[in-house]
Amino acid sequence: MKVTLQNLTKVFPGRNKQVSEDVIAVNDFNFEIPDGKLIGLLGPSGCGKSTTLNMISGLEKPTSGKIFFGEEDVTDLSPELRGVGLVFQNYALYPHLTVKGNILFPLQNLKKDKKLTKEQMNEKVEYVSKLVQIDELLERKPSELSGGQQQRVAIARALVKMPKILLLDEPLSNLDARLRLQTREELRRIQKETGITTVFVTHDQEEAMSISDMIVVMNKGVMNQYGAPQEVYEDPKNLFVAKFLGTPPINIFYGSVRSGALYIGKTEVMKAPGLDDREVYVGVRPEGFIINENGPLSCDLERVEVMGRDTSIVARHNYFTGAFIRAIISSEDAPRSDLKTVSFSLKKNKTYIFDKITEERLYLEN
Ligand code: ADP
Ligand code: MG
Repeated sequence: MKVTLQNLTKVFPGRNKQVSEDVIAVNDFNFEIPDGKLIGLLGPSGCGKSTTLNMISGLEKPTSGKIFFGEEDVTDLSPELRGVGLVFQNYALYPHLTVKGNILFPLQNLKKDKKLTKEQMNEKVEYVSKLVQIDELLERKPSELSGGQQQRVAIARALVKMPKILLLDEPLSNLDARLRLQTREELRRIQKETGITTVFVTHDQEEAMSISDMIVVMNKGVMNQYGAPQEVYEDPKNLFVAKFLGTPPINIFYGSVRSGALYIGKTEVMKAPGLDDREVYVGVRPEGFIINENGPLSCDLERVEVMGRDTSIVARHNYFTGAFIRAIISSEDAPRSDLKTVSFSLKKNKTYIFDKITEERLYLEN
């Protein structure tokens, strides 16, 4: 089921003297979630991800704007009538019910013509519990399950009504690192098998990048960029998106454009055809550095970390915005670790220029 968000806005009004300012949690969101895809809704804590999701599910009412499921306007429809499955960070299982009881619960509450027979219910429970691989655990209580198993039960419970849309709000955040990896692979498989349109909310860029067909990057209630994960990584529209995606993160230098050349400090690092003189930020991905004795960017070498195939070079530069530059190069090219300085040239396609004031990306002429 395709979902369309049209000028979707949510304002939480200031309540009292302490909180007098209105919070614009979601600001004029326009977006189409394609049918059958898994969309990662990504952004830092407080940027409006949950609010967006809650408006899609109907738990929050938009201040303005509309939501469509397919061609149907569901903006004023109650959550129960929307046919969405929800999974939250804390599994929120009923502790006194067995796993089976928990999964059955949404089916037992179906009304009128939607009512199911016992056999139909059991069939559905069997199907989803196999799908999420908890069919061996049906008679246990939630307290007898690991965190990962509990979250699988929550996913099964969300899926059992065969929702048109599955909404997941940081579903893996309570799991330890290994389970998180494993469960996200599982989620991907389940989504592919069922073909249910899914919105997956996370603040973890790596998680979003790894399982999503498409990602939406949000900041302060505003959608910044939408695209396939690799596409957004390689072609960020602004400084925020560039900084938010990638581990290790992009390296940001203070720079300037003067007479058609790009400078970091007083050193010209590359030509900048088509750009007017101005102050800029220069972003270089860790894989964008080339070790080159005669390269323009000379840095103080802090240390060299060999990690098998790759080597990470940690260095300093006066015009770097953070503490340490991190460059990833092939171990074959690794410099001696006792050197005091290391010089780089920059790969053009891994170097990004952003206006210092607007923080929007600036593009070179070819
Ligand atoms: P995220 O899920 O990305 O962390 P949220 O959607 O929960 O962000 O919140 C977005 C913004 O809206 C935050 O500034 C948050 O404090 C505010 N907010 C969320 N819910 C409420 C509420 N019920 N009342 C007032 N402000 C809220
Ligand atoms: Mg949230």
